[in-house]
Amino acid sequence: MNLLLCKDFKYSPAKLHSGDGLEINADLHIHSRFSGATSNNMRIATIAEQAPLKGLHLVGSGDALHPAWLEEIRSLEEVDEGIFLAGDTRFILTLEVEDARRVHHFIILPSISAAEELREKFGKYSVDIEKDGRPHLTLKGEEIADLVNDVGGLVGPSHAFVPWTSIYKEYNSLRECYGSAKIAFLELGLSADTELADTIAELQDITFLSNSDAHSPWPNKLGREFNRFKLREVSFTEIKRALLRQKGNRIVLNVGFDPRLGKYHRTACIKCYTHYELEEASKLKWRCIQCGGRIKKGVRDRIHEIATWDKPHHPEHRPLYLRIAPLAEIIAQALKVSNVYSSRVQNLWRKLVVAFGNEIRVLVDVDTEEIAKVGGEAIAELIRRFRVQDFEIIEGGGGKYGEIIFTKQAKKRKAVKNQLSLDNW
Ligand SMILES: [Zn+2]
Ligand SMILES: [Zn+2]
Repeated sequence: MNLLLCKDFKYSPAKLHSGDGLEINADLHIHSRFSGATSNNMRIATIAEQAPLKGLHLVGSGDALHPAWLEEIRSLEEVDEGIFLAGDTRFILTLEVEDARRVHHFIILPSISAAEELREKFGKYSVDIEKDGRPHLTLKGEEIADLVNDVGGLVGPSHAFVPWTSIYKEYNSLRECYGSAKIAFLELGLSADTELADTIAELQDITFLSNSDAHSPWPNKLGREFNRFKLREVSFTEIKRALLRQKGNRIVLNVGFDPRLGKYHRTACIKCYTHYELEEASKLKWRCIQCGGRIKKGVRDRIHEIATWDKPHHPEHRPLYLRIAPLAEIIAQALKVSNVYSSRVQNLWRKLVVAFGNEIRVLVDVDTEEIAKVGGEAIAELIRRFRVQDFEIIEGGGGKYGEIIFTKQAKKRKAVKNQLSLDNW
């Protein structure tokens, strides 16, 4: 990894057509309105409209085995192998399942017929596969991976380090879960990044995915994490090659949260969110001293437990991890509004992304003087401060997201580095 390159890094909008192939931004893991605890707005048309504003070209369908959702996807034009078009947004078939040990697995499928075949196979081991977009299976990780591989799909762990439903909350290694079955990637989840995950030796050869796991289509959720793929064309086979790093295809950028903003980053009480050091939590037998609530082990501490090294060892193939935060949240702070869904925040967000192309460009690239002309001084100032990391972070934990705080004190801090959050590389 060339450190100088990182300092000079500029986020330029990914292009669908460039000299030797394509670069596309893809958020592969979302859930439809047919999964539990999701927005009723998780509809194809709404997602297709929101994705380009965020800067996304390709979105995972999520919930691809759900009969009604699959019907909606089937009604779209299939523009390339396994790729369906709605408006300017392409969709690829993806889904998530929960196994017998409450571990979540993420799956990418090549075709509608593969989805139907997999539904048939999984159906024998699930009571809710027709009803829940994220079905529960009475299978082990290895059995799930074998069935997915049998239909030509790709599989790997979802949000690999979270305390409730991930591989590493249950196992100490990939092999314990998947045995000899092939996996194609590992999804980092919002509370981890490559700095943390590259301390684990067994992950050196695996491609990391950074996806939003969005349950709502609004810009603080959809595309809050995504991947930039380098491909020859947008198709399932080309995506597969990128994940396996074949024929020059690969992921060239992981984009996502500063892991401290993830809601399971620190070990914390799930009722009152008091943070604990690992030793302290274990001494307290995982009961909160403040409220008696349950303490959940954070992603940071879990990764430290299974880490091979103190410091990350980035393999040659590992792309940059660009840290971002939702623009809507920065706008809300500038307007001193607590609700990011308020029409004032949403309207201004839309005005900025329409003026400058997409959200990531506003966050990272566009001159703040230009931003001030469209969105006003207060927002331009906070974006400038975001870029030089002139802010405090209240870390997330116990199910509560972290927060970026633009305090007066933070402003006084020396902050001269001019590339957001890439200075850790
Ligand atoms: Zn999940
Ligand atoms: Zn508590």
